[in-house]
Amino acid sequence: MLRETCDVTVWQEELPPPREVIRRELAEADGLLCLLTDPIDAEVIGAAPKLKVISQMAVGFDNIDLAAATSRGIPVGYTPGVLTETTADFAFALLMAAARRISEAERYARAGKWKTWGPTLLMGFDVHGATLGIIGFGRIGRAVAWRTRGFAMRVIYHDPSTDSDVARQMGAEALTFEDVLAESDFLSLHVPLTPQTRHLIDARALGLMKPTAVLINTSRGPVVDQRALYDALATYRIAYAALDVTDPEPIAPDDPLLMLDNCLIVPHIASSSVQTRTRMAVIAAENLLAGLRGERMPHCANPAVYSQ
Ligand code: NAD
Repeated sequence: MLRETCDVTVWQEELPPPREVIRRELAEADGLLCLLTDPIDAEVIGAAPKLKVISQMAVGFDNIDLAAATSRGIPVGYTPGVLTETTADFAFALLMAAARRISEAERYARAGKWKTWGPTLLMGFDVHGATLGIIGFGRIGRAVAWRTRGFAMRVIYHDPSTDSDVARQMGAEALTFEDVLAESDFLSLHVPLTPQTRHLIDARALGLMKPTAVLINTSRGPVVDQRALYDALATYRIAYAALDVTDPEPIAPDDPLLMLDNCLIVPHIASSSVQTRTRMAVIAAENLLAGLRGERMPHCANPAVYSQ
């Protein structure tokens, strides 16, 4: 799509481009299509005199200095909506896998440890009838809530800006942050990463949770204080965690969390279905092309640029 109208330079490596490469390429570029692994801060934006548009292939954009882009009048594109259902599918997959200890059980079978049927072998927790707490009741949080219907779960949530009528129609109950933590059997995080949500789940928050609780994080790694999480899991202060995202990413191979049986970690793949990654790529290209033509982007993260 981009090559039809643009001269395109593509970074072909698996690892993200070094900062110097981004800066050098942006010295002449009119547009940038980037990933969440590319830090596009004020200095990078400042070193790009011709830049007219930034388009990110993700719904989160905490790697981009939105204020710096806005002050230059540069629209920043993102890909909301198309990831919602796929990410919610995956959050539910992590919930089920943690509840029933599927990755542990698979390792056990592969290691040749399966000798017999045991009355207490790899006992997990029931999902049906349990209470699911959702922190951040936006697009993905609600889509996760819909998925509980077949499991007859109670859904409670905390989100200061969600219309509680919509939630009530879904049978979800708004509670304080502390009450959601205290009452949840499963706690799933769906907030954006902002200064206010960094380390939202810290030692204090973990201390409010049930000892049998399972934490699921498909939002952003830094929303959880990972040291405090390690302590809570290692001492069975909470029962289990299932993480799609970590802090930092990738997680270091010697990170103590990787040594724990009660922590399931996967490499940031919640939106990774063939259909959704294709749609995200197309939307990112459409946003970029609209920006280059000086038209309003279909999905803009800083619409204030259009009223400046
Ligand atoms: P959204 O904007 O629709 O919903 C986020 C909700 O969080 C909003 O309703 C907001 O009011 C609420 N919120 C903000 N601060 C809060 C706080 N302190 N306490 C409680 N609620 C708070 O966004 P979305 O599309 O649902 O996506 C949520 C986040 O999920 C994204 O920002 C992104 O970082 C992450 N995400 C991750 C993946 C992945 O691959 N793991 C995929 C998609 C999205």
